[in-house]
Amino acid sequence: MFYNSTRQKTVSVTATEAITRGISAEGGLFVPTKLPQWDATALQTLVDADYQTRAIAVLTQFLGDFTAAEIDHCVVNAYNDKKFATADIAQLKHLHDQNYMLELWHGPTCAFKDMALQILPYLLTTSAKKAAAGKKMVILVATSGDTGKAALEGFKDVEDTQMLVFYPEDGVSNMQKRQMVTQEGSNVGVCAIKGNFDDAQSGVKQIFTDPAMLKTLADNGMMFSSANSINWGRLLPQIVYYISTYCEMVKTGAITMGEVLNVVVPTGNFGNILAAYYAKQMGVPLGKLICASNQNNVLTDFIRTGTYDRNRPFFTTTSPSMDILISSNLERLLYDLTDCDDEKIADWFTKLSDHGSYTVDDAVKGKMAEHFYADCCDDQETAATIKAIFDRDGYTCDTHTAVAVQVCESYQKATGDTRKTIIVSTASPYKFADSVLSALGQTLPADDYEQVALLHDISGLAVPTELATLKDKPVRFTGSIDNKEMKQAVEDLLGL
Ligand SMILES: *Cc1c(COP(=O)(O)O)cnc(C)c1O
Repeated sequence: MFYNSTRQKTVSVTATEAITRGISAEGGLFVPTKLPQWDATALQTLVDADYQTRAIAVLTQFLGDFTAAEIDHCVVNAYNDKKFATADIAQLKHLHDQNYMLELWHGPTCAFKDMALQILPYLLTTSAKKAAAGKKMVILVATSGDTGKAALEGFKDVEDTQMLVFYPEDGVSNMQKRQMVTQEGSNVGVCAIKGNFDDAQSGVKQIFTDPAMLKTLADNGMMFSSANSINWGRLLPQIVYYISTYCEMVKTGAITMGEVLNVVVPTGNFGNILAAYYAKQMGVPLGKLICASNQNNVLTDFIRTGTYDRNRPFFTTTSPSMDILISSNLERLLYDLTDCDDEKIADWFTKLSDHGSYTVDDAVKGKMAEHFYADCCDDQETAATIKAIFDRDGYTCDTHTAVAVQVCESYQKATGDTRKTIIVSTASPYKFADSVLSALGQTLPADDYEQVALLHDISGLAVPTELATLKDKPVRFTGSIDNKEMKQAVEDLLGL
């Protein structure tokens, strides 16, 4: 299995190189040359298997230059009962009628990012041993909240790695901030910046490609890699849970093998929903992939009109992990939908960085409409949805998941589609306790932990250990910097 760059398809690298480098030198993203195919017989073999076995089966198809023992090592260390609160890792629950919740937040940081970021450090260190012998991996992360914490937790004290996380000072929830500023580990740093997520992300990209910085790193036996979802090692583990969930639905008798499922994904950087698209292209019977956005609805407009335009106001919403105007993984989708037209992709994404917009051709627009449906909702609708499903189904969901539930309902109303539907639930409601409590009509206690206690009383849901123990952890990282000072922060962390 080889990987090509979306902006220059003659670039061809192995899985270990793709994961080690994170991004291709000319700015493209790595994609598999050809997706492995899974028919009903192949899926059937995984119906009675556990999550780990399913993960090994899927990863083996993609990681050609990993040995079986290496894949085993990665999977066993990532998905186990020390890290995940539920034995099934990804937990499926019936919500109502045709709709099911896929809870992907039972990992150590209570958000779906753990599904990939628990295994990425193992994929990356295994890759780096082969593809970058002896080098220390320096991982910079720009986060809108959940990635940062999940990456820190995944990489803390992992040998031969150093990590620095940048987050927008006012762009994350209280709980997310507390989780990051109390992070343990001798090889990690956390830095607040004055600006929004896109500022943090552009800052990181600039440092990644700064020639002087690259040379300094090389001189010191180090190299950059990425834990953001541009890294193939982030995306691949996400394909696993779509395949696993399909098998789980068959196993429980909710569907029969071959029956088509719709999927609704609360979307930001387009990583999660892209993994669903890849699973569909691999042969998993998935129907409509429903892309749910908050008020930052650049993707809704794009999927409907074919024009991507980031020149619009940026809103800070109650679903901060989806407050994104540049969805990097769209590049991988478009590469696939243009039948690997690297020149077109390079052209569109140059336009995006030069002018903030581009328009795809009708063929691509048509293919998008065939696979995807897109809609969005604002904070008020999100809150009303949290209340509605709490009252109707006794289900407490976080703000991101509520965006998906709302869009799922609007899709089903608009189309009358009665297919069984997987709604991807991406965070524990405790991570956004203030918004969830307000939505449920509660008067907010000022203290974060009193909020958690109140939500516990109302919902009856167990408080995740990670959040319950946060209170007693000392704050390690304080203050904030200008985004022009990001490079200095990296040099300081690395002692350069
Ligand atoms: C990251 C995140 C999302 C968005 O996922 P993408 O893969 O970036 O589209 C949605 N919800 C939560 C809670 C997240 O942390």
